[in-house]
Amino acid sequence: MIIAERKPINEIVNMVSDAKKILLLGCRGCVTVCSAGGEREVEILSSLIKLGMQKQGKSVEIIEGTLVRQCDKEYIDSIEQWKGQYDAIVSMACGVGVNFIANLMPSTRVYPAVNTSFFGGSADQGVWTEQCAGCGDCVLHLTGGLCPVARCAKSLMNGPCGGSVDGRCEIHPDVECIWQSIHDRLGRTGNADAMKAIAPIRDWSTAGHGGPRKTLRDDLTV
Ligand code: SF4
Ligand code: SF4
Repeated sequence: MIIAERKPINEIVNMVSDAKKILLLGCRGCVTVCSAGGEREVEILSSLIKLGMQKQGKSVEIIEGTLVRQCDKEYIDSIEQWKGQYDAIVSMACGVGVNFIANLMPSTRVYPAVNTSFFGGSADQGVWTEQCAGCGDCVLHLTGGLCPVARCAKSLMNGPCGGSVDGRCEIHPDVECIWQSIHDRLGRTGNADAMKAIAPIRDWSTAGHGGPRKTLRDDLTV
Protein backbone atom coordinates (compact mmCIF):
# COMPACT_ATOMS: atom_id res chain seq x y z
CA MET A 1 0.00 0.00 0.00
CA ILE A 2 0.94 3.64 -0.18
CA ILE A 3 2.29 4.91 3.13
CA ALA A 4 1.72 8.50 4.20
CA GLU A 5 1.79 10.58 7.33
CA ARG A 6 -0.03 13.73 8.27
CA LYS A 7 1.76 17.01 7.74
CA PRO A 8 2.53 19.12 10.83
CA ILE A 9 -0.61 20.96 11.87
CA ASN A 10 1.03 24.41 11.58
CA GLU A 11 1.87 23.72 7.94
CA ILE A 12 -1.72 22.72 7.20
CA VAL A 13 -3.21 25.72 9.04
CA ASN A 14 -0.90 28.10 7.18
CA MET A 15 -1.92 26.56 3.85
CA VAL A 16 -5.61 27.12 4.46
CA SER A 17 -5.48 30.30 6.50
CA ASP A 18 -7.43 32.25 3.83
CA ALA A 19 -10.21 29.69 3.52
CA LYS A 20 -13.61 30.28 5.09
CA LYS A 21 -15.24 26.95 4.23
CA ILE A 22 -13.21 23.81 3.86
CA LEU A 23 -14.15 20.40 2.57
CA LEU A 24 -11.86 18.06 4.50
CA LEU A 25 -11.69 14.79 2.61
CA GLY A 26 -10.37 11.48 3.85
CA CYS A 27 -9.92 8.31 1.84
CA ARG A 28 -10.86 4.76 2.84
CA GLY A 29 -7.91 3.28 0.92
CA CYS A 30 -4.25 3.02 1.90
CA VAL A 31 -4.25 6.11 4.11
CA THR A 32 -6.93 4.57 6.30
CA VAL A 33 -4.88 1.40 6.72
CA CYS A 34 -1.74 3.36 7.66
CA SER A 35 -3.74 5.65 9.96
CA ALA A 36 -2.87 8.84 8.10
CA GLY A 37 -6.07 9.96 6.36
CA GLY A 38 -9.14 7.89 7.13
CA GLU A 39 -12.39 8.87 8.81
CA ARG A 40 -10.86 9.01 12.29
CA GLU A 41 -7.96 11.22 11.12
CA VAL A 42 -10.40 13.54 9.33
CA GLU A 43 -12.27 14.07 12.59
CA ILE A 44 -9.05 14.80 14.49
CA LEU A 45 -7.63 17.11 11.82
CA SER A 46 -10.90 19.00 11.60
CA SER A 47 -10.67 19.90 15.30
CA LEU A 48 -6.99 20.79 15.01
CA ILE A 49 -7.57 23.11 12.04
CA LYS A 50 -10.38 24.91 13.88
CA LEU A 51 -8.16 25.34 16.93
CA GLY A 52 -5.22 26.53 14.81
CA MET A 53 -7.41 29.05 13.00
CA GLN A 54 -8.84 30.23 16.30
CA LYS A 55 -5.31 30.95 17.51
CA GLN A 56 -4.87 33.17 14.44
CA GLY A 57 -8.10 34.98 15.32
CA LYS A 58 -9.98 33.37 12.40
CA SER A 59 -12.93 31.05 12.12
CA VAL A 60 -13.58 28.38 9.55
CA GLU A 61 -16.42 26.03 8.66
CA ILE A 62 -15.35 22.50 7.92
CA ILE A 63 -17.38 19.83 6.16
CA GLU A 64 -15.98 16.39 6.86
CA GLY A 65 -16.19 13.61 4.30
CA THR A 66 -14.38 10.40 3.45
CA LEU A 67 -14.47 8.89 -0.03
CA VAL A 68 -14.12 5.20 -0.84
CA ARG A 69 -11.05 6.13 -2.87
CA GLN A 70 -9.68 9.45 -4.07
CA CYS A 71 -7.67 7.81 -6.86
CA ASP A 72 -10.76 6.81 -8.80
CA LYS A 73 -12.96 9.21 -10.73
CA GLU A 74 -15.99 7.06 -10.00
CA TYR A 75 -15.74 7.89 -6.29
CA ILE A 76 -14.52 11.47 -6.63
CA ASP A 77 -17.76 12.34 -8.41
CA SER A 78 -19.54 12.00 -5.07
CA ILE A 79 -17.98 15.34 -4.04
CA GLU A 80 -20.92 16.80 -5.98
CA GLN A 81 -23.06 16.33 -2.84
CA TRP A 82 -21.16 19.23 -1.19
CA LYS A 83 -21.23 21.51 -4.25
CA GLY A 84 -21.20 25.21 -3.37
CA GLN A 85 -20.53 24.56 0.32
CA TYR A 86 -16.75 25.07 0.38
CA ASP A 87 -14.06 27.33 -1.05
CA ALA A 88 -11.13 24.91 -0.65
CA ILE A 89 -10.56 21.19 -0.41
CA VAL A 90 -8.04 19.70 2.00
CA SER A 91 -7.31 16.14 0.98
CA MET A 92 -6.03 13.54 3.41
CA ALA A 93 -5.40 11.07 0.57
CA CYS A 94 -1.98 10.28 -0.85
CA GLY A 95 -0.56 12.52 -3.58
CA VAL A 96 -2.39 10.46 -6.19
CA GLY A 97 -5.73 11.39 -4.67
CA VAL A 98 -4.81 15.08 -4.43
CA ASN A 99 -3.75 15.09 -8.09
CA PHE A 100 -6.94 13.32 -9.16
CA ILE A 101 -9.10 15.88 -7.39
CA ALA A 102 -7.06 18.75 -8.84
CA ASN A 103 -7.39 17.23 -12.35
CA LEU A 104 -11.12 16.93 -12.04
CA MET A 105 -11.78 20.27 -10.32
CA PRO A 106 -9.72 22.85 -12.25
CA SER A 107 -11.20 25.89 -10.50
CA THR A 108 -11.05 24.69 -6.90
CA ARG A 109 -8.15 25.21 -4.50
CA VAL A 110 -6.87 21.81 -3.36
CA TYR A 111 -4.38 21.29 -0.52
CA PRO A 112 -2.55 18.15 0.66
CA ALA A 113 -2.79 17.27 4.35
CA VAL A 114 -0.40 14.34 4.28
CA ASN A 115 3.10 13.64 3.06
CA THR A 116 3.09 10.62 0.77
CA SER A 117 6.14 8.59 1.68
CA PHE A 118 6.51 5.24 -0.09
CA PHE A 119 5.07 1.84 -1.02
CA GLY A 120 5.36 -0.34 2.01
CA GLY A 121 3.75 -2.51 4.60
CA SER A 122 3.15 -2.73 8.31
CA ALA A 123 6.21 -4.14 10.08
CA ASP A 124 4.91 -3.69 13.61
CA GLN A 125 2.27 -1.73 15.49
CA GLY A 126 2.71 1.86 14.26
CA VAL A 127 5.70 0.99 12.06
CA TRP A 128 5.66 0.86 8.25
CA THR A 129 8.63 0.04 6.06
CA GLU A 130 9.33 0.64 2.39
CA GLN A 131 9.30 -2.49 0.24
CA CYS A 132 8.94 -1.36 -3.38
CA ALA A 133 9.85 1.78 -5.32
CA GLY A 134 7.54 1.13 -8.28
CA CYS A 135 10.49 0.91 -10.66
CA GLY A 136 8.41 -0.50 -13.52
CA ASP A 137 10.73 -3.43 -14.27
CA CYS A 138 10.55 -5.83 -11.36
CA VAL A 139 13.59 -7.99 -10.64
CA LEU A 140 12.28 -9.84 -7.60
CA HIS A 141 12.50 -13.18 -9.47
CA LEU A 142 16.28 -12.66 -9.52
CA THR A 143 16.67 -11.47 -5.95
CA GLY A 144 14.73 -13.96 -3.89
CA GLY A 145 11.69 -11.69 -3.58
CA LEU A 146 13.60 -8.92 -1.78
CA CYS A 147 13.80 -5.56 -3.51
CA PRO A 148 17.25 -4.05 -4.09
CA VAL A 149 15.81 -0.87 -5.60
CA ALA A 150 13.81 0.21 -2.56
CA ARG A 151 15.64 -1.62 0.21
CA CYS A 152 19.33 -1.07 -0.67
CA ALA A 153 20.50 2.42 0.28
CA LYS A 154 22.36 2.62 -3.06
CA SER A 155 19.72 0.77 -5.14
CA LEU A 156 22.48 -1.54 -6.31
CA MET A 157 21.59 -4.08 -8.96
CA ASN A 158 24.75 -6.03 -8.17
CA GLY A 159 25.42 -6.22 -4.47
CA PRO A 160 26.47 -6.23 -1.76
CA CYS A 161 28.65 -3.15 -1.95
CA GLY A 162 31.16 -4.51 0.56
CA GLY A 163 30.43 -2.01 3.29
CA SER A 164 27.96 -3.97 5.39
CA VAL A 165 28.87 -4.95 8.94
CA ASP A 166 27.26 -7.98 10.59
CA GLY A 167 24.49 -7.96 8.01
CA ARG A 168 23.63 -4.29 8.60
CA CYS A 169 23.75 -1.59 5.93
CA GLU A 170 26.76 0.74 6.02
CA ILE A 171 24.57 3.75 5.25
CA HIS A 172 21.74 2.90 7.64
CA PRO A 173 23.04 0.55 10.36
CA ASP A 174 19.54 0.27 11.81
CA VAL A 175 18.39 -1.75 8.77
CA GLU A 176 19.56 -5.00 7.27
CA CYS A 177 21.89 -5.01 4.28
CA ILE A 178 19.30 -6.23 1.84
CA TRP A 179 21.96 -7.70 -0.43
CA GLN A 180 23.23 -9.81 2.45
CA SER A 181 19.64 -10.96 2.97
CA ILE A 182 19.23 -11.64 -0.76
CA HIS A 183 22.42 -13.70 -0.70
CA ASP A 184 21.34 -15.67 2.39
CA ARG A 185 17.86 -16.25 1.05
CA LEU A 186 19.02 -17.43 -2.37
CA GLY A 187 21.34 -19.88 -0.59
CA ARG A 188 18.56 -21.15 1.68
CA THR A 189 16.23 -21.71 -1.26
CA GLY A 190 18.80 -23.68 -3.29
CA ASN A 191 19.50 -20.85 -5.73
CA ALA A 192 22.93 -19.64 -4.56
CA ASP A 193 24.28 -19.65 -8.12
CA ALA A 194 21.96 -16.76 -8.94
CA MET A 195 24.35 -14.48 -7.02
CA LYS A 196 27.05 -15.16 -9.63
CA ALA A 197 25.01 -13.58 -12.41
CA ILE A 198 25.96 -9.98 -13.19
CA ALA A 199 22.94 -7.76 -13.72
CA PRO A 200 23.33 -5.59 -16.83
CA ILE A 201 23.32 -1.79 -16.69
CA ARG A 202 19.82 -0.87 -15.77
CA ASP A 203 17.46 1.11 -18.00
CA TRP A 204 15.82 3.41 -15.47
CA SER A 205 13.41 4.93 -17.97
CA THR A 206 10.71 2.61 -16.57
CA ALA A 207 11.21 4.11 -13.12
CA GLY A 208 9.55 7.41 -13.90
CA HIS A 209 12.61 9.62 -14.21
CA GLY A 210 11.56 10.66 -17.72
CA GLY A 211 8.08 11.91 -16.86
CA PRO A 212 4.73 10.48 -15.79
CA ARG A 213 4.19 6.82 -16.53
CA LYS A 214 1.05 5.19 -17.81
CA THR A 215 -0.20 1.62 -17.84
CA LEU A 216 -2.61 0.74 -20.60
CA ARG A 217 -4.36 -2.63 -20.57
CA ASP A 218 -5.86 -3.41 -23.99
CA ASP A 219 -8.14 -6.04 -22.48
CA LEU A 220 -9.71 -3.47 -20.16
CA THR A 221 -9.93 -0.35 -22.32
CA VAL A 222 -13.15 0.41 -24.17
S1 SF4 B 1 12.25 -4.38 -8.35
FE1 SF4 B 1 11.03 -2.55 -8.83
S2 SF4 B 1 8.89 -3.25 -9.04
FE2 SF4 B 1 10.09 -4.91 -8.06
S3 SF4 B 1 9.74 -4.57 -5.86
FE3 SF4 B 1 11.64 -3.46 -6.41
S4 SF4 B 1 11.01 -1.37 -6.96
FE4 SF4 B 1 9.18 -2.66 -6.89
S1 SF4 C 1 25.47 -2.18 2.82
FE1 SF4 C 1 24.04 -3.46 1.64
S2 SF4 C 1 22.06 -2.36 1.68
FE2 SF4 C 1 23.65 -0.92 2.35
S3 SF4 C 1 24.25 0.15 0.51
FE3 SF4 C 1 25.68 -1.60 0.71
S4 SF4 C 1 24.70 -3.28 -0.47
FE4 SF4 C 1 23.13 -1.69 -0.16
